[in-house]
Amino acid sequence: MIPELERVVEQIAALPGIGRKSATRIAFHFLKQNQEKVEDFLTSVTQFHSKVEYCDECGALKSRHLHCSMCTPGQRNETLLCVVEQPSDIFAIEASGEYNGLYHVLMGALSPLDGIGPDDLRLASLPARVHKHPALQEIIIATNPSIEGNTTANYILSMMAEFKNLKFSRIASGLALGSQIEYADARIISQSLRARTVLE
Ligand SMILES: [Zn+2]
Repeated sequence: MIPELERVVEQIAALPGIGRKSATRIAFHFLKQNQEKVEDFLTSVTQFHSKVEYCDECGALKSRHLHCSMCTPGQRNETLLCVVEQPSDIFAIEASGEYNGLYHVLMGALSPLDGIGPDDLRLASLPARVHKHPALQEIIIATNPSIEGNTTANYILSMMAEFKNLKFSRIASGLALGSQIEYADARIISQSLRARTVLE
């Protein structure tokens, strides 16, 4: 392999879910494109990187300098708050069309083996958000159906014990253990939300 190709393949293969074989195919695809198309591609990646940020309030992805659409007052059902692991989970849940409440992104899940503890997640701001939304009635814990996701759900339940007036629920396990919400089918997410179980 010539060094220029090697370098591109190496970088593409470092992206999540892409092996060396696919990376090589993508590199050759770029080679076949004209200069303008390749520059368009690079510009959109650069702009995405510089013009997008996470909302301080809910953790959703938003355009820099614009208000977060998930936090705009009057736009969402403020009796519900859905806790998810990743900002990308919001896209999957929105696509299900089943939910129009608020969100709270944790930016991960508890995983003692990987050294991820409560302080590494957006957990501390959760009680403050509850206080900020007096109409809130239910918190839906939509962490992934994995050991880490379930551990996180239990942790939230105990850390939020002071909120006696709130209902806490967990999305139903139409989602197989170990599956990830962001890749789940919209229909399955929709069923899973509808059949959520109340946690005691
Ligand atoms: Zn927000």
